[in-house]
Amino acid sequence: MKKVDTYEKFVDYMKDVYSQKFNDYKLTHSESVIDFFNACYNCMILASNDESLAYYSYHIYQLAMDLRDVEADNKESFLKEYWSLIREYARLLTGEYEPLVKGALPDEYNVFGHIVHISTRNPKLIAYTPTLEKREEDIQVQAKLGKYLGKTFADLKPHNIGSIVDRFNLLQFGDDGADLSNYKLKFAKTADEIEEIYSLDINLTAYENGEGRSCMQYDASYFESPVHPCRVYGYDDSLVLAYIVNQDNDVLGRAIVNLKRKEFVRTYFLYGYKDLFERILYNNGLQYNPSCLDGLHLDYIEYGNGFVAPYLDGHYTHAYVDGDHLVINNDGFALDQTNGLSFEVSTFSCNCCGDESDEDSGVLTENDGYVCSYCAENEYVWAYDQWKQEVLINVDEAVIVDNIYIANDALDENGYVEVRDENGMYEILAKEDCIYYEGEYYHPEYFEYNLESIVGEDEDDLKEAKELIGA
Ligand SMILES: [Zn+2]
Repeated sequence: MKKVDTYEKFVDYMKDVYSQKFNDYKLTHSESVIDFFNACYNCMILASNDESLAYYSYHIYQLAMDLRDVEADNKESFLKEYWSLIREYARLLTGEYEPLVKGALPDEYNVFGHIVHISTRNPKLIAYTPTLEKREEDIQVQAKLGKYLGKTFADLKPHNIGSIVDRFNLLQFGDDGADLSNYKLKFAKTADEIEEIYSLDINLTAYENGEGRSCMQYDASYFESPVHPCRVYGYDDSLVLAYIVNQDNDVLGRAIVNLKRKEFVRTYFLYGYKDLFERILYNNGLQYNPSCLDGLHLDYIEYGNGFVAPYLDGHYTHAYVDGDHLVINNDGFALDQTNGLSFEVSTFSCNCCGDESDEDSGVLTENDGYVCSYCAENEYVWAYDQWKQEVLINVDEAVIVDNIYIANDALDENGYVEVRDENGMYEILAKEDCIYYEGEYYHPEYFEYNLESIVGEDEDDLKEAKELIGA
């Protein structure tokens, strides 16, 4: 690696880097400051988008944005101020430096300007530039990671550093060199002990890349079941929860274990701790077997139409009821819900407004099936049907007469009839308030005004009709 300890050497160096990374464009020594400046900017953008440099990308991106915003007159003085930083990032881009793997060091230990990377001379060490002066002199300091952390972060206690270094070695090198005496394997056996571990607010995942969070890693209030679903593990003496803690007693991983078979079903861990946790399990004589839950018992706690149930991992994810407990098997009920119950609470779409609702079933209507309670209250009325029974129907299917609702098609049966008044407008009247003449109901006023056209001119008929009106 060539020493680049002056601005002039930096200019030459960056022109090489630029030619290397942008083959189609060769910067020459006659290039203007502006062109050179843009070349530096392009390299930083390239570096900030390089996935292998994810650990540095935030800082590189900040630098690139600063470069972008520099005014034309200030470009050269900006470069003269920041050239050594750009040089360091460019070395990561060209592969002269081996970068840290993303996540190997937690972000809070990513010091701007230090540019911690794997030492080029001793790959067991890290190297960094502790000060601006050292950086400009192009001097990198080598150190063991633990020593660097202790020097840079005065608050860190030795066992904190030990954990960070172990995790670093695992992620950076896939190295099994962690000191296992820093960790303790423990077992939670009772329902209370098991619930306590599952209730911790920690991001346990089953995926090596650290994505996802265990759906059971919440306290009881998160679930729809009245008790924490993982309490049911406390029923069977052969079923325990194994977990590891560091010297601060932080839980770093857990796994359900069949003690009789000395097997665990699946590991959940903090990002970075999978290998370490599994190695500790193996060292304690426990083997991975996704079928190992077969036949184990769970507490049977009925709730609603079902029972309290955790999400089961592995090849045996069902259970059947046997007296006061459940037996894990491939028969019976699927324990595949994340809400803490054996049955999914059904959602339904309201037949009135069409909205999805999480109510158990909504409200059953006479003609439209289930509707949500909002619609039931605002769009439906209890009305008398053809059998004079009150039924819940849409308000458009009912009429209101004398302060009661009657289904449109049940007027007759309920003693009502639709008749025209003296102006020819339709009105609903109780039959007893109408004139009943020759098999037809008439509005009294309509009947009176239209007497002759209804009855005819026969004297006797008219007289009889007038008696009906009471005239
Ligand atoms: Zn609705």
